[in-house]
Amino acid sequence: MLTGQTPILVLKEGTKREKGKGALGNNIAAAKAIADAVRSTLGPRGLDKMLVDSMGDVVVTNDGVTILKEMDVEHPAAKMLVEVAKTQDQEAGDGTTTAVVLAGELLKRAEGLIEQNIHPTIISQGYRLASNKALEVLQEVSQPVKIEDHDLLTRIAVTSMASKSVSFDRDHMGEIAVKAVTAVAQPKGSSYDVDLDNIQLIKKQGGSMSDTQLIEGVIVDKEKVHSGMPTRVESPKIALLDAALEIKKTEIDAKIEINDPSQLNAFLQEEENMLRRMVDQVKKSGANVVLCQKGIDDLAQHFLAKEGIYGVRRVKKSDMEKLAKATGANIVSKVSELTAEDVGHAGLVEERKIGDDSLTFVTGAKKAKAVSILIRGGTEHVIDEIERSLDDALNVVAVAVEDGRYVFGGGATAEELAMRLRDHAAKIGGREQIAFESFADALETIPRTLAENAGLDPIDMLIELRKAHKGGQQRAGVNLATGKTVDMGELHVIEPIRVGRQAIESATDAAVMILRIDDVIASKSSPPPSGGPGGPGGGMGGMGGMGGGDFGED
Ligand code: ADP
Ligand code: MG
Repeated sequence: MLTGQTPILVLKEGTKREKGKGALGNNIAAAKAIADAVRSTLGPRGLDKMLVDSMGDVVVTNDGVTILKEMDVEHPAAKMLVEVAKTQDQEAGDGTTTAVVLAGELLKRAEGLIEQNIHPTIISQGYRLASNKALEVLQEVSQPVKIEDHDLLTRIAVTSMASKSVSFDRDHMGEIAVKAVTAVAQPKGSSYDVDLDNIQLIKKQGGSMSDTQLIEGVIVDKEKVHSGMPTRVESPKIALLDAALEIKKTEIDAKIEINDPSQLNAFLQEEENMLRRMVDQVKKSGANVVLCQKGIDDLAQHFLAKEGIYGVRRVKKSDMEKLAKATGANIVSKVSELTAEDVGHAGLVEERKIGDDSLTFVTGAKKAKAVSILIRGGTEHVIDEIERSLDDALNVVAVAVEDGRYVFGGGATAEELAMRLRDHAAKIGGREQIAFESFADALETIPRTLAENAGLDPIDMLIELRKAHKGGQQRAGVNLATGKTVDMGELHVIEPIRVGRQAIESATDAAVMILRIDDVIASKSSPPPSGGPGGPGGGMGGMGGMGGGDFGED
């Protein structure tokens, strides 16, 4: 007998499947929703988002990647856009909103092309060609910057902080970022390598933001353990211990029977002797500062103080590693094995009072450069936003130093790329050309959004910008204060080339990947649909809202 009319099921029952235009339309709608969620924060005039998590904790920020990380995104295509932000953050340290907004715009324009019956594969090819050309032009219009160019680097730092809500002395912060990065930059071939792990950020509430300062050294967020210890040790010899200066508690319960007071004394005496021997070992190594990752017994603290040794306990592992690198000390995990060879050196170890807390500053170490930034500010939210701003600033300065090239911001570079891509489009030919041109148009979403967020008329602004660039003004961008075009070099709005390059690459990758999906198969265990691709905050609702067949609403 033939199988007849019985349908053949290849997928598990309950599996959701969406094919063709319906699948693509839903994916695009979800990705666009993500882009729309961060769009209004782009640029210095962008607004902030207040994010409240399930515990009621509040974050106020303008930082694209922070917003997206906090949002509980569930739709798979929306998640891909969140990935774009994360990659951008990892690779370039800034430009997360730009990348996501660009990806959203590429998809929105692709939607229009699909309606004109251009196949997604053709669109993808056109986008790829355009992306490659854009990267080529980006390199052409970029300018050189050297590690000695402190002014230029400071402008790059200041530009990255322009959009942060907290109004603070950006020049001061910019200078701190530049000094920190140039201090830890290591020559590598004809260029430099910057490991931002060598820059430590310490947050201490209180004081004012202008008290934020750069310390050439390592700050340990701990005080000395005993008031009898010195507060300052010049030219210190530093021992780093990954062991406790305590008597080990026995692993098994042992019972000691004492039936005579002299025995008790002997027992206590033995404990004291053991601690004494540990401190003697430290002293024998020549160390006059001991930083301990574990605990220090009260009695040992007393002995150390008597010897004039500065001691800190429960130091974070990451701090220990920084200290080892900076001072040349070895981290020793058995007190009895500590020798003079393991001891490291610095210029000064000092306890300083910052606000209500006492911290240990280790400065003037010669072995390797380590710098710390002590962030001060009135409230926790302010300090956190300063930290995020500084993080962006450090990253942009680092990648600018590594790549040695920068471009003009404020939509100037985006417009120049758009124009040159349009000029080049005729050489592409075929249907890909239409997608190629759409890519060029999509780049203009950057100046357009910057203008929109500043309350300017985006159409007027674009017309002005196009005119300026046609007239050869490569650096013309949006002056958000006046609504006119301006030479971004004069406004000092500049960015490392890597931010732009990465934004183009990851936005294209995400758009192309989403365009190539024409079949979504979701297993039953995926989150239950919550009715339509809700806006951000409403939850993306898993695969919910699939099956509309048509493209998502605009
Ligand atoms: P992202 O997360 O993409 O870094 P931002 O909110 O930091 O987003 O905004 C960055 C954009 O703001 C860049 O396009 C940058 O060129 C632009 N920008 C920064 N400062 C200015 C300024 N003073 N005038 C115009 N545009 C600016
Ligand atoms: Mg930024």
